[in-house]
Amino acid sequence: MSTHAELAERHGTPLYVYDLDRVDAARGDLFEALPEGFDLYYALKANPHPELTRALREGPGRPCRAEISSVGELSVALAAGHPADECLYTGPGKTDTELDHALAAGVRLFSVESPGDLRRIGAHATRYGVTVRCLLRVNGATGSANTSIRMTGRPSQFGIDSETLPGLMPDLLAVPGTRIVGAHLYTMSNAKDESGLIAELAHAVALATRLEHEAGMPLEYLDIGGGFASPYAVPGRRAVYGRLRAELERLLDERLPRWRHGAPRLACESGRYLVGDSGTLLTRVVNIKESRGSTFVILDTGINAVGGLSGLGRLLPAAVGVEGPVGDLTASLVGPLCTPGDTLGRDIPLPSLRPGDVVAVPNAGAYGVTASLMGFLSRPVPTEVVLRGGEVVSVSRLEPRRVHEPVKAALG
Ligand SMILES: *Cc1c(COP(=O)(O)O)cnc(C)c1O
Repeated sequence: MSTHAELAERHGTPLYVYDLDRVDAARGDLFEALPEGFDLYYALKANPHPELTRALREGPGRPCRAEISSVGELSVALAAGHPADECLYTGPGKTDTELDHALAAGVRLFSVESPGDLRRIGAHATRYGVTVRCLLRVNGATGSANTSIRMTGRPSQFGIDSETLPGLMPDLLAVPGTRIVGAHLYTMSNAKDESGLIAELAHAVALATRLEHEAGMPLEYLDIGGGFASPYAVPGRRAVYGRLRAELERLLDERLPRWRHGAPRLACESGRYLVGDSGTLLTRVVNIKESRGSTFVILDTGINAVGGLSGLGRLLPAAVGVEGPVGDLTASLVGPLCTPGDTLGRDIPLPSLRPGDVVAVPNAGAYGVTASLMGFLSRPVPTEVVLRGGEVVSVSRLEPRRVHEPVKAALG
């Protein structure tokens, strides 16, 4: 068994530690919370670490599928054993290069974010001599619950406005190289409670069935999204969904009476719930200073390793939390970067700390390294170690490095 202190000593800090046993547990819990027969997509955006991506495919229980949105995520998914024909390719700005790449790799299921996106997918598929299955991502006119990130009901780069679908459908259905098989609804992240989550998923089912009837949208496959909650870089536990399964079954029986026979086949998706609590960020206190009555605990990493988006005011948390008994210390937890934006928390309660101590930020398995400002200030990127059964099974580090290319002559 390796303790945090031992791991920090052996591998240095900053250090991400992921526990695959927790990834297995989260996957088991989420499949358990969903009705039988649901597909579950893992959004690699949350953490494209190859070992986590592999663990979600292999191991005990039903395998997750990969939801990918770039050539990089696709190659991680394939290398981790996800079959290309079970991947779902999403994103509002799929480029020609990545579509070629995805088709060549064997991806045959795309989430379509706009009519232009569909035509582009179709053009590439036609050139490739295949017909791909497409889910229409729908931006519903209304939503139903409050969440930290909402992506529906207002103008958005995501999805096709639901009210335009009846008019658009004949053209969408006729795009060569594509076959529309259903809908993709993803309207929120990190639902604040189970009732809100159920309401949002119910809303997705209602909207999809309405579009089937009113707009003639095919409905063989329906991805009702997610919003499964997990604490982010603060102590706490993953949500437990005791009612979700029964409520979803009841609602599906009512709205889609043939769903138990696979008509439509159903899917959900998650990033943070599956990997969030598997990860801990270990960082070391470099210095502690006082300034005008406030204490600053200065760590060896900050927004260049975690919550980089929160530095831009985009993503929770407003303050990270750390493991350990909270003592008398109230201090600002800051990183080493030369910007006041490198603040992980202001005036937060902390265990008593001294320079050299290791601080553990729990629930940091999702939206860590790859959602951080990794390149900012050119400091070392955290090493990432993976545990299985308490033993280290993988040690790696992402490294941004400049690659020189020949200077091309100007055109003309
Ligand atoms: C980001 C994203 C997810 C994952 O969100 P979590 O909050 O991490 O579960 C799932 N689906 C889509 C379409 C996304 O953009």
